[in-house]
Amino acid sequence: MSTIRFQALREASTRKPIKFEETGRKSILFGSNVFNDKAMKQYLTSDAFKGVQGAVQHGTKIDRKLADYIAMGMKEWALSKGVTHYTHWFQPLTGATAEKHDAFFETSYDGSDPVEKFGGAQLVQQEPDASSFPNGGIRNTFEARGYTAWDPTSPAFIFGTTLCIPTVFISYTGEALDYKTPLLRALQVMDEAATEVCKYFDKNVKKVTATLGWEQEYFLIDRALALSRPDLMMTGRTLLGHTSAKGQQLDDHYFGSIPTRALTYMRDLEQECMLLGIPVKTRHNEVAPNQFELAPIFEETNLAVDHNCLLMDVMEKVAERHDLKVLFHEKPFKGVNGSGKHNNWSLATDTGVNLLSPSKTPMSNLQFLTFFINTIKAVNDNEALLRGAIATAGNDHRLGANEAPPAIISVFIGEQLTKVLAELEGVTAGKLSPEEKTDLKLNVVGKIPDVLLDNTDRNRTSPFAFTGNKFEFRAVGSNSNCSNSMTTLNAIVAKQLRDFKKEVDALIESKDMKKDDAIFNVLREYIKHSKKILFEGDGYSEAWEIEAGKRGLSNFKTTPLALKARASKQALDLFSDLGIMNHIEVEARYEIELEEYTKKIQIEGRVLGDIATNHVIPTAIRYQNTLIENVSGLKNIFGADFEKVAKEQIILIKEISRHIEGINSKVVEMTNERKKANVLTDGQEMAEAYCDEVKPYFEVIREHCDKLELLVDNELWTLTKYRELLFTK
Ligand code: ADP
Ligand code: MG
Repeated sequence: MSTIRFQALREASTRKPIKFEETGRKSILFGSNVFNDKAMKQYLTSDAFKGVQGAVQHGTKIDRKLADYIAMGMKEWALSKGVTHYTHWFQPLTGATAEKHDAFFETSYDGSDPVEKFGGAQLVQQEPDASSFPNGGIRNTFEARGYTAWDPTSPAFIFGTTLCIPTVFISYTGEALDYKTPLLRALQVMDEAATEVCKYFDKNVKKVTATLGWEQEYFLIDRALALSRPDLMMTGRTLLGHTSAKGQQLDDHYFGSIPTRALTYMRDLEQECMLLGIPVKTRHNEVAPNQFELAPIFEETNLAVDHNCLLMDVMEKVAERHDLKVLFHEKPFKGVNGSGKHNNWSLATDTGVNLLSPSKTPMSNLQFLTFFINTIKAVNDNEALLRGAIATAGNDHRLGANEAPPAIISVFIGEQLTKVLAELEGVTAGKLSPEEKTDLKLNVVGKIPDVLLDNTDRNRTSPFAFTGNKFEFRAVGSNSNCSNSMTTLNAIVAKQLRDFKKEVDALIESKDMKKDDAIFNVLREYIKHSKKILFEGDGYSEAWEIEAGKRGLSNFKTTPLALKARASKQALDLFSDLGIMNHIEVEARYEIELEEYTKKIQIEGRVLGDIATNHVIPTAIRYQNTLIENVSGLKNIFGADFEKVAKEQIILIKEISRHIEGINSKVVEMTNERKKANVLTDGQEMAEAYCDEVKPYFEVIREHCDKLELLVDNELWTLTKYRELLFTK
């Protein structure tokens, strides 16, 4: 009998939910481990408090002396909560968050005067060894050293006994080595561009904030079962495993009652989130068995991104207490739904207006339409770039692989808004007559809030959908840092808003148009220009692929192809014109992402080769030996007649040999392809070789293994099966 699998099954099946009690009301716990306004007011002098506020709201610099005061207060607050260490907490391009803990504790060189110390210098800057993090060649071009620098817009927090200070991570020459730096720059550009446009409608607007509400999907698997699968542990997904007879076809999991163990885990997790100030709100079962979703109240984008990174970390840690393993991979199991991370995105003014929310008056609806249409145009003009921003090896299993959503980026706006755009398209060129303007305002622009109320058709197949008061970018992978998608989306929309402002101003000045006339005129042209991106139909259908091709939309089904757009001339110009990333930074990211893709596929190939050779084949041989014994026994009894009674066994013996041969030869061929790919020197070519020459073997090898799983005695099979992974609650 296979020991690891059956031990794991025994462990998992006797597991009880651990005891967990909430320690207080959420609203009271919320943010108690965050150095937020309340804590700052208590621990900082009013000057220091104002300094932080200024930095958060207006980006004003904090000088060293003030930093010392802030650090002092922060330290006192942390010590009062039993904290011993501090760390800069940052997001290098590895995908995981990074931290290096230092104790507050210090002594003199001779061991005297032990004391807890933490000053402005430690708060503001640290120097982790940049050469150990991916830098996409920046290391070769420039100095290897990098440093982390405090981001006061995301508050420090305590996790365990460590004070974590969110920081950016940059090289000494100023190039961004992380996800946060370009995001902060993009959000800044967005603020400026959107504020300028808002002034057409309301002079009081001084700041526009991009908001993000992510929805995190994940699987929860019993820890012992997960540990019994080397592929899950090494690659985050199952590389083989026959689909379970029951999968998600009965639709009995989605929104069903949450299994007790999972629910206890969620409650524990939510309490941790409350302490950390992550405003989680929604929890439910997702479509696949053992798949769940968690969503917060939306926040300012930088904070929301930090919170998502932190959440993923906390989810893994809390899972350990519950003997569970969280799977963030986009496609851990073949044959059931994968996981995504919908990015709900909007823009909010400091006057309290959601710019993507239609409202009561025609004027504010013209503002809504302005932002709405500019967003559509931005996506229209940069669809390939947006696709590139979400390209990863894991996400390839969703995009373009017959799963939500397709690899083609399109925008869904619903029937009602489609009609509104059609009417706006008919606006007269040049100055509008007073009648036309009144009619537009009363009957088109003014009617939007009413029509939206019954605009309930939500197209689940669209990668970028307008959902009433926000756009929902659904193609983001569950394992991704939201920064890539948010940096790109905010950058393209900011650029678009800048262009819009220029065009409207030009019409006002050169054509002597009224502001409204100019806006209507520019929007009309944008609607005409952006038709190719709007699609209301079934995004999974073949008809759409053909149609999208005709429209000239990109359809990159694999990461190596999709990533090309990351370093296209358009991308280089966009990011450098806006001051978000220079050419070196953009190209470095492209290199890093290609390399990450290659490495992921390389690791998957190796792990699959190992498992197929060391688990599957020996098991198959063992079973085959039993069959052979059986056949020779039958021969002893039945003599020449044995073939009649041993017929099925003999067929099985041959079948097993055929699959063993299949595995062996394909593993050898795959290894040869890997060797060929490994000598390529160009990152793009290597990634393409891994994608086109190595990866196709995964399916072939898997087929043989999965067939054997069906043939071989269940008692002998060493790898925990799909039904056990997916249905153990
Ligand atoms: P679903 O898409 O599953 O139906 P909802 O439509 O309720 O879920 O929205 C989910 C997410 O949208 C939540 O995380 C919520 O915080 C976020 N959201 C709502 N309004 C905004 C907004 N103005 N900006 C950004 N995110 C928002
Ligand atoms: Mg959603």
